[in-house]
Parts: sequence; structure tokens; C-alpha cells
Amino acid sequence: MARVGLREWLAVAPVFASGKLARFSGDGKSPLTRFEADFSEKFGVRHTLTVSSGTGALIAALAACGVGPGDEVLVPAYTWIATAAAAIAVGAVPVIVDIDETLTMDPADILRKLTPQTKAIVPVHMANMVCDMSAILGIARKHDLIVVEDACQAVGLTYRGVRVGTIGDAGAYSFNQFKNINIGEGGAIVTDDDRLFARARMYHDIGALFRGHLDNYNEPSMVGINLKASQIQGAMLNVQLKKLDPMIRRMRVRYDAMAEILDSTGFRLGPHNDQENAAGLHLLFDTAEEAQTFAAENKRGVYRLFDSSRHVYTNWLPIIEQRTANPRMNPYSWAARKIEYTPDSCAKSLDILKRTCRVSLGENYPLAVMTYLARRMRRQGAASKGGLAYAT
Ligand SMILES: *Cc1c(COP(=O)(O)O)cnc(C)c1O
Repeated sequence: MARVGLREWLAVAPVFASGKLARFSGDGKSPLTRFEADFSEKFGVRHTLTVSSGTGALIAALAACGVGPGDEVLVPAYTWIATAAAAIAVGAVPVIVDIDETLTMDPADILRKLTPQTKAIVPVHMANMVCDMSAILGIARKHDLIVVEDACQAVGLTYRGVRVGTIGDAGAYSFNQFKNINIGEGGAIVTDDDRLFARARMYHDIGALFRGHLDNYNEPSMVGINLKASQIQGAMLNVQLKKLDPMIRRMRVRYDAMAEILDSTGFRLGPHNDQENAAGLHLLFDTAEEAQTFAAENKRGVYRLFDSSRHVYTNWLPIIEQRTANPRMNPYSWAARKIEYTPDSCAKSLDILKRTCRVSLGENYPLAVMTYLARRMRRQGAASKGGLAYAT
């Protein structure tokens, strides 16, 4: 999580002074236009559209891709509820796919969950851990599926040298307070596809043609909703974008240092789909009890994933119960088959989450503090494994 401070404060002052706070006020040189150009360049993608949230980004991306009633959207069992809710918002139903030990979608389970109704895969790069995009894209190509990456929790991370979010047909980012770029609330959609961009841009601004949203692309108009961001967000984003890569470098350095210390104790480090760029540290235990004990003994910066309950599918109450605002607008009644979410749907994910602890990399703390904490974990781990003597 990036800090917000004086530089953001100074950046928003001129926006107040200009009085041009709205998305489409002022000339073409607004803070948001600048952010979108800089973000596209840094991320190597053709189009960036800033929106009001990561959830909004997912909804607009799915809507732009034409996902809707009757369609099934594959989402992982371990993610923020927004990933699944976005599918419902466009009239589709989420189908939940197991994760593997990388904490991201298990490609083998994607194959098991495919049906003739499957329209899109939404792989989630969870907690700065990147998905197996090579396998996922392979499946998507073979079965003619859309891939919308949920990179909300991994803004700036790379998979084999490419920024996550820019690999699939479209990508969604969140800039809320707990994400790598932090402006309180906000999000963005990226895509290389002109047509998807035109549709997402129309959708995010209630289809308002008079704003010139259709320049160049010849897309027929369609109704959307309002997901626009403000220039205050734009001004903050320009500052935060500069902080992103240095912060990811700090995560990488801390990952390497802490992983080396923990590895030498016989802890089982969680695997990564791009090990060289790993920026998320998790430890796998043989039993749920061991993971629980480890989390209890190392409170600071350590938690068992199963206990971060909001991210576990069995706790997404409105989705488990399939309840929407209006029963006649309920996508489950339009689905081709009965969809059910039970603890058995993704038992493997629950087992992994119960046996896994995440270790914070403390990117805003000095490296020495983090290596001290890793050594302390090593001592405790050694003690709980029967008092083996490890040098500290
Ligand atoms: C945060 C998050 C979202 C939604 O982002 P908001 O900006 O809070 O709407 C979606 N997916 C994942 C994985 C997230 O962590």
C-alpha cells in the first residue's frame, strides 16, 4: 500500500483553484488525461480509462466485452467479493474455480468448470501474486473465452516481464486505500482493443455520445451507467504513479531477504507463477492447526489466509444466497442450469487457505525491521518444530 502525503496534497490544490473538478470539464489537458497517457505508456498498453472503483472497472470491462444474461464467468474461490459481484452486475453468473498453492486460479480446475455457457475467465492476481497467465490464455484461446484480468490487488506487478492487467482482453485495477496505488477510492480499465475501449468509455458515462466518446471507433451507442472519476482523483493518481515502481522494488528486496531467512529453516515457501518477480510471501503448513499456531505466535504482519474471511468464497453471503435487489433482475434465474455454491464446490481452496499464512513484506518499514521479524519467525518455527537449533 502506497502512502498518501504532502505531495498528493500539493497536487490537488491547483485542481481546486481551477474549479475544474469534473471528468469532462476543462480542455484536453486535465490531470486524468495526463494520468491515462502516462499509465498507458508505463504499462505498455494502448488504452487506459480511469473509473470510480475497481468494481466499476470490472463491470465496465465485462459489459464492454458483451458478457451478460445466460453467460457463466469463471472467478477464483479466493478473491474479494467484487470479482464475483461484477459478473452479476452485468447479468451473468459467477462460477467459482479452485485456487492452487500459488493462491491464484488453478488452470486444471478451469477445465473442470467449463460448460457451453462459459463466456469469460476473470483470473485474479491476488495479493501481488500473479496468475499462470500462459496456461489461462491457452485455455481461453482454445475455448474462445474472454479474459478480463482482475489486477486490483497487483497494480504494477509483472508476469514474465509484462504488467498484469495488460495480458488478457482487458484488465481492471483498483486504487482504493488498500491497493498498490492509493487514492482512497478509484480504479481503471486497460485494453489494447479499440472497440472494447470505445464501449467501456461509453458505458462508464451513461453512453453520452455528445462527449465525443465515439471519435474514431464507429461503435453504435449504448446505455451505460456513471463510473466517472474526478480530477481530484486524477491529480492524486499522477503523484501515486511515480511511487509505484519504487514501492514494488522495496517489496521485491524484502521478499528476497525474508524468503532466504525463512527458507533456511525448513519452512515451506509458497510457489509463484513468476518466481523471479515474486512480491508476495506466503508459507504453507502441513495442517490447519500448524498454520493457526504460527499466525497466533507471530501476530505482527502474519495472518492465516482462511481467517481473512472476506476473501474466501464461502463468506460471500449475498452471492452464496444468490440474492439481488430485484428478483426479476436475478441472473441466476436466467442461467442455463442451477448454480450452487457449497463448501464442497472448492474444497481444495478451503484446504489450502486453512494451511497457509501470509507474511507481510512491510514495504513502508525499514528492511532491517523486516529481516528481524523473519529471523524471529525462524526461531519460533524452529522451536515449534521440536527445538531444532538454528543460528539467528
Ligand atoms: C479491491 C478489489 C476489487 C474492487 O476494487 P474497489 O476499488 O474496492 O471497488 C476487486 N477485486 C479485487 C481482487 C480487489 O482486491
